[in-house]
Amino acid sequence: MPSHATCLCGNVRIEAELARRHFTVCHCTMCRKWGGLWMAVECAEVRFDGEDAVRVYPSSSMADRGFCANCGTHLFYKSRWNGRYYVPVGLFDDVDGFVLEREIFFDTKPDYFSLANASEQFTEADLRRKHGLA
Ligand SMILES: [Zn+2]
Ligand SMILES: [Zn+2]
Repeated sequence: MPSHATCLCGNVRIEAELARRHFTVCHCTMCRKWGGLWMAVECAEVRFDGEDAVRVYPSSSMADRGFCANCGTHLFYKSRWNGRYYVPVGLFDDVDGFVLEREIFFDTKPDYFSLANASEQFTEADLRRKHGLA
């Protein structure tokens, strides 16, 4: 059953197939600059309605980031490695059942906050090892 998400103005509507209702928090400096706490759900399949309002910013060689040209809502991080979309958990209309699974780039998390939820925590070095980039 697809899950539905929208931007703030409603111009962009997203229909996503979620394998699991787990999300990841990324503490990397790019996600922090891009807008506070990046909390995103990996989507198996994504369809956009109102795609002409979607703007894409190539933030690095690893990924593109999408946002709504009308209201500025951040819509997705799209990995160039696996082609998958990661959509902010906050855009989904149905808030029930989401679980914080992991925090990544934990070593670059600033000291001014900490999340109380239990989660797996990965540093950049952990991720590089995991993906064979060490
Ligand atoms: Zn919008
Ligand atoms: Zn990040």
